[in-house]
Amino acid sequence: MDERDDLERVLRSRTPILALQTREERRALELLRQLRQRLPWPVYKWTLTEGLTSLAFDFALEGRYREPDEVLRHLRDEAQAGVYVLVDFHPFLNDPVNVRLLKDIALHYETNPRTVVLLSHELDLPEELGNYAATVRLRLPDRETIRRIVMEEARRWKQEHPGRKVGADREALELLINNLTGLTAAEARRLAHQAIFDDGAIDASDLPRVMQAKYELLNQEGVLHYEFETERFADIGGFRRLREWLERRRSAFHDPRPGLDAPKGILLLGVQGCGKSLAARAVAGIWGIPLLRLDFATLYNKYHGETERNLRESLRAAEAMAPCVLWIDEIEKGLSTSDSDAGTSRRVLGTLLTWMAEQAEGVFLVATANDISALPPELIRKGRLDEIFFVDLPDPATRKRIAEIHLRKRGEDPLHFNTGELARRTEGFSGAEIEQLVVSALYAAHARGTPLRDADLFAEVELTRPLSVVMAERIDALRDWARTRTVSVD
Ligand code: ATP
Repeated sequence: MDERDDLERVLRSRTPILALQTREERRALELLRQLRQRLPWPVYKWTLTEGLTSLAFDFALEGRYREPDEVLRHLRDEAQAGVYVLVDFHPFLNDPVNVRLLKDIALHYETNPRTVVLLSHELDLPEELGNYAATVRLRLPDRETIRRIVMEEARRWKQEHPGRKVGADREALELLINNLTGLTAAEARRLAHQAIFDDGAIDASDLPRVMQAKYELLNQEGVLHYEFETERFADIGGFRRLREWLERRRSAFHDPRPGLDAPKGILLLGVQGCGKSLAARAVAGIWGIPLLRLDFATLYNKYHGETERNLRESLRAAEAMAPCVLWIDEIEKGLSTSDSDAGTSRRVLGTLLTWMAEQAEGVFLVATANDISALPPELIRKGRLDEIFFVDLPDPATRKRIAEIHLRKRGEDPLHFNTGELARRTEGFSGAEIEQLVVSALYAAHARGTPLRDADLFAEVELTRPLSVVMAERIDALRDWARTRTVSVD
């Protein structure tokens, strides 16, 4: 059965409303046009600019009933039996009048069968219509179809460059095909074309560009951010146990085996400024996969009333980018279960938990959090995530490493400094505070016009009141909580 058969089956099943969600409007209309001959009813198309026209014609007609409520009233009161494809009607589903009109049409389906097809790239059907509607998604091309598309583009390149062959490295070809899955055929073709036609070769240099272009195509709402900066664990002090944990699971993540559960995700909980964000970036770095950051704040602010739908879309986009790391920073801020937001965060939590339970392989979730009191217990229940890691204030050896890393980053040779003594004096400092004191000490040296000295660093230590002192009680409470429930990253 192909997707035309699927569509025909639903249209014949006497469902009054069909939600057809796809980014491929042209292909969807073409499928419906082809179905015209097989169906016993005429097929019409409506757009806001052209009004209602017959789908039989390939050219645009000046149609009637341009206003959304006008076309629905026409369908309810006058129209003959048929299939009516309303293209991009989704913004008008916010209007209760339109929702009621659609429901009226559905309720009178038995006496006058008019099927309304809502064709849009995004659709969130109002609950009132749920009982009368079926949802259909156009299938995306599978790996074999994508392979064929890539091969066709390679052949086209050869035709335009007689006597030459497309240079292809087998591994890059397979990765390119991987990266193009999740896209529509037209999008995959365009990216394959670019990858081949820029230099007549498919190689590793094409991949980052394809990934970025794919991300841009999938994430048109801007809630997921593609983070170009990943980290290496070499630039992070501490986190020994986390690194080992990740290394042990690397192959199970990339190449799941029977009997070994593919890693799903971790929560990094801990004291502010101790490197949770750095570690999230390093997960992507160590596994060599893209890092996507889900911005909860934008999810809530920008799309008031559409938060869950946008979350679902973002999660789907992340799946299409797999293999990847999905990083949710300060997850507690988006999921705090207070009653003040009319239950939105509860529903967001529900959406996230369902996704985690059903999650497809290839998306590794890294959530970071500072405040356990705001974390919903459902999230941290055993089994949801693979592990909850605690990121504590660094111990002396780690403080020494962190000071060395940040000195080196700023062109100083750590061997010229007594970093052991600095580590001793910075008890209770976070990584961010150690970095900051290196920065400030460099300013002091620069102002004096002489090279940086130990004394500059020690002076900055005296001037700093670390968070662990200012917020001693909160940090103690966090540590107490973490002691029995989490695993240390070190
Ligand atoms: P927050 O909860 O405030 O977001 P965080 O735990 O995510 O903090 P980061 O943002 O990762 O902390 O750390 C801030 C900066 O401090 C980092 O960019 C890095 O430069 C420095 N830093 C913190 N911890 C470490 C570490 N273990 N090794 C090296 N640098 C560190």
